[in-house]
Amino acid sequence: MYKLNFELVPDGCWYQNLRSALPQAVWDSIRKTAYAKAKGKCMICERKTARLEAHERWSYDEERALQKLETVIAVCRNCHEVIHVGVATTLWSGL
Ligand SMILES: [Zn+2]
Repeated sequence: MYKLNFELVPDGCWYQNLRSALPQAVWDSIRKTAYAKAKGKCMICERKTARLEAHERWSYDEERALQKLETVIAVCRNCHEVIHVGVATTLWSGL
């Protein structure tokens, strides 16, 4: 298992995330907890960065149509874009 992987999302879950599903204060608490654990470094590539992003790791049971939040980690923008290569590709194709 590599630290950095493409994490493809089932199409029924596209464009949905905790940030938009939770009250702002709750999401802020979750992401700030991840940032505190990261101590200013991306939790994947371990480079120091002034700007961390919160990445939600989900597991999917497509047979039962279940989506489960496994964890939220703090990552740099570059790693986040690689993880969500499907989103990046969709955005780039619209340019
Ligand atoms: Zn990184």
